[in-house]
Amino acid sequence: MYGVDHLMSQTIAFIGLGNMGGGMAANLVRNGFTVRAFDLAEAALAKAEAAGATRVASAAEAASGADAVVTMLPAGKHVESVYHDAVFDSATKGALFLDCSTIDVATARRVSAAAAERGFEMVDAPVSGGIAAANGGTLTFMVGADDATFGRAKPILSAMGKAVIHAGSAGNGQAAKICNNMLLGATMIATCEAFAMAQKIGLDPQTFYDISSVSSGQSWSMTSYCPLPGVGPQSPADNGYEGGFAVALMLKDLKLALEAAASVNASVPMGSQAESLYQLLANKGEGGRDFSSVIELLS
Ligand code: NAD
Repeated sequence: MYGVDHLMSQTIAFIGLGNMGGGMAANLVRNGFTVRAFDLAEAALAKAEAAGATRVASAAEAASGADAVVTMLPAGKHVESVYHDAVFDSATKGALFLDCSTIDVATARRVSAAAAERGFEMVDAPVSGGIAAANGGTLTFMVGADDATFGRAKPILSAMGKAVIHAGSAGNGQAAKICNNMLLGATMIATCEAFAMAQKIGLDPQTFYDISSVSSGQSWSMTSYCPLPGVGPQSPADNGYEGGFAVALMLKDLKLALEAAASVNASVPMGSQAESLYQLLANKGEGGRDFSSVIELLS
């Protein structure tokens, strides 16, 4: 539990209580915050209420009088409209804004600048970790903000995660998130490619794992999330590629990465290949399966 006595008095407006936001809001309640919840979906609101949040009728009502506003929304357009259409005009002077959604860097910087113009401080704080980490309060937050604003945001984010890392100024949380996930997408595909080829050459996959996991080809995709069933630790591969990190979410992050790369003329041939392969999987109707199922395309 995080410094409960100190936090009891803080009211958080939480907007977007879906798969991720629902668990995150529940952890704020558990850690002594008063949470005012708003979502467009009735089921999400009911769940938040059951977890101890107070449901309200609009994003504006949630923000009004709150010490901080946390948003966990699908994409940049939702974040932009929630802040411009509801939060900016109803938030109390001095309120802190924390957007934990994964969105494009340009929108994150634009919304942060718009908040600053109105006298508000804002952080972009996207997360690493899925629904289980959101429920368990073990997310990692990558935070874009100046030092003082990061300091204000940290106690709130710490109540929902195991690590809160300052990535630099506004937008840099999103930059860290997409660079990390572009690397993950590419290394997963490379790992799948190597396992598939090893088997075709006649190398036993377990033997290949035993060698490569302690050699220079080692990666998180291999040793923490092995794409082959029965090899390495338990992973979605052992569960028919169900659960885990969906192809559709990986594809979303890769598209954001390519958009950011184009905006700064960065050459990202591996990220681009990864996007193309995950698009192919999504087009085959596999968007809901775990992203390590890409091995089936390569076997
Ligand atoms: P979700 O679709 O389950 O939840 C989003 C919620 O936002 C929904 O309940 C929706 O009704 C609500 N919403 C949309 N527009 C709204 C508005 N104008 N006002 C109020 N509520 C609104 O999505 P999720 O899986 O919870 O993901 C949220 C964010 O977290 C996304 O940006 C996603 O990329 C990111 N993320 C997800 C995961 C994951 O494993 N699901 C992991 C890391 C990051």
